[in-house]
Amino acid sequence: MPFRTPIKHCRNCGQGVVYRVPDDGDIRERAVCPACGTIHYENPLNVVGTVPYLGDRVLLCKRNIEPRWGKWTLPAGFMELGETTLQGAARETDEEAGADVEMQGLLTVVSVPRVGQVHLFYLARLRSDRFAPGHETIEARLFTENEIPWEEIAFKTVRETLLCYFEDRRRGQFGVHNLEVT
Ligand code: ZN
Repeated sequence: MPFRTPIKHCRNCGQGVVYRVPDDGDIRERAVCPACGTIHYENPLNVVGTVPYLGDRVLLCKRNIEPRWGKWTLPAGFMELGETTLQGAARETDEEAGADVEMQGLLTVVSVPRVGQVHLFYLARLRSDRFAPGHETIEARLFTENEIPWEEIAFKTVRETLLCYFEDRRRGQFGVHNLEVT
């Protein structure tokens, strides 16, 4: 279980669980409850975010939280239950940057198998250059491609997404990019 803290107790009855391959033809170890038989499946989580842009500039947020405190990132976070990927991306953009955006198409789908995550970034056109960053953000500001602090970008998924954005922008056509980072 390299991704997350192992499950200790059964979600259904509270008994201690054991990690073993269930007897139902499964091939992976799961947290199985010896008392009630509940099998706890653990699957990748979705991280949803945006590439907010205004003219030739992109909005980045300086992180006020760990990990990567003080590094720059695109607004993004874990998707919540009950929302769509688009709604989640818009919510994170509002929470982290306080930015007023028009949500547009999907730009990148980034698998991160090492940590069991899939990151989705949408294009988002900024309606204004006034931002109201939340507590997770020290500062939100716009950068042209030449101004992007490439050495200070918090995550590989964000770096790859920014590279796609500027490449597509130069081509004059935006597509959906299926990526993987290790
Ligand atoms: Zn149980």
